[in-house]
Amino acid sequence: MIHHDVAVIGGGCVGLSTAKHLAERTDLDVCVLEKEYHLAEHQSGRNSGVLHPGFNYPPDSVKAEYATEGTSRMKEYCAEHDIPCEECGVLVVAKDDREEAHLEELAAQAEANGVAYELLDSQAAIREHEPHAVGQAALYAPEAASVDSQQYVYTLAREAQQDGVDLYMGHAVSRIHRSGEGYRIHTSNSDVEADYLVNAAGLHADTLAHQVGVGEDYQVVPFRGEYYELTPEKAHLCRTMIYPTPDPELPFLGVHYTRRTDGKVIVGPNAVLAFGREAYENTDVDLRELYETLTYEGFRRLLASPTMLSVAVSELNKSYRKGKFTEASRRLVPEVKSEDLEKSYAGIRAQLVSAEGELVKDPLSIETDDAVHVLNAVSPGLTCSLPYGEHVAEQLAEKV
Ligand SMILES: Cc1cc2nc3c(=O)[nH]c(=O)nc-3n(C[C@H](O)[C@H](O)[C@H](O)COP(=O)(O)OP(=O)(O)OC[C@H]3O[C@@H](n4cnc5c(N)ncnc54)[C@H](O)[C@@H]3O)c2cc1C
Repeated sequence: MIHHDVAVIGGGCVGLSTAKHLAERTDLDVCVLEKEYHLAEHQSGRNSGVLHPGFNYPPDSVKAEYATEGTSRMKEYCAEHDIPCEECGVLVVAKDDREEAHLEELAAQAEANGVAYELLDSQAAIREHEPHAVGQAALYAPEAASVDSQQYVYTLAREAQQDGVDLYMGHAVSRIHRSGEGYRIHTSNSDVEADYLVNAAGLHADTLAHQVGVGEDYQVVPFRGEYYELTPEKAHLCRTMIYPTPDPELPFLGVHYTRRTDGKVIVGPNAVLAFGREAYENTDVDLRELYETLTYEGFRRLLASPTMLSVAVSELNKSYRKGKFTEASRRLVPEVKSEDLEKSYAGIRAQLVSAEGELVKDPLSIETDDAVHVLNAVSPGLTCSLPYGEHVAEQLAEKV
């Protein structure tokens, strides 16, 4: 039986950042258990790859703190480790008076959070940044950046290993038991004993937490985000990043344009209920997981809200009808035509929903005497991963 002081379940950006910080700051013998044979197979490698500098989040919120700090730390980290990262800035476009008023709120948040911004009040000013974007006003945030999230995850893993962390790939945790003073962890490979546990299993974190009686008032509801990409001939339609003004009621940012570090321009993601936690195609169905979602009272309460129901229908439409997706894309860049968009990859967000039917918007980790369960490493979790992983490592280290 393998024994470690600490077992971190999940080799995404949160689990690996936690392991790296534990290894740097303590003498603990740490391992990471990852179910896949490659890293970055789920959220940490299937996202927009955007460093969000913090104007989207209310002052004094955890997200504002981590996103602002995370953006600058991640840029330094990428520079130090030669990870592609381009500080290209983002343009958040308002199409009507209501959205323009919300831009003012974003500007006030940027001010309070110490994030650089510029308000643009005309189409001509928008065109100077993005010649093909159309709107009546915009907020330009120059500190936003595009990063190669997969290379980032691999670098975190390499650093953690260099600091002594054992990384067990292909170890899918099926069951966690309390055993004496610690835990016995059953995996698809060898079993592991650990005195302390960090559960950073992303889309499956709630399932594992429930096995030891933690977080039973919450369940992960998987929301797929699908991307198209502009054909190479049309990639010039977006120079950097073009976002819609976000709806403050919704946790998702809306279909946007992102120029990735490899030069491709991705368009998306939408936010549609996935019929399984790893159902990356809109034809994939995992009947057991779908049943779990549909019978969860928190999900039923969420859908009882007329706003959420209408959003759900509209997002489903965008998933199954390319015309609807194109319509959403054309709102920001009207020149885009359906034939300019090619299907690209998809990611699935592990969105925590409370039994009361609330979408949990802030990061949530639940502590016990000898474990930290990261239940909601919600977007912008990539941006926040250095300070957030450090925080989880500190939470765990205090228990030892
Ligand atoms: C479509 C989309 C777009 C996004 N865009 C952005 C963005 O632009 N900027 C940003 O900052 N954030 C973005 N995010 C959010 C960000 O990607 C996540 O917050 C972050 O990656 C969460 O990391 P994680 O380590 O918690 O989860 P994951 O990356 O999902 O890692 C969890 C790991 O646990 C493993 N695992 C699961 N179950 C088990 C088990 N039983 N045993 C062993 N291992 C297990 C999985 O294989 C996985 O590797 C986006 C997310 C999505 C889905």
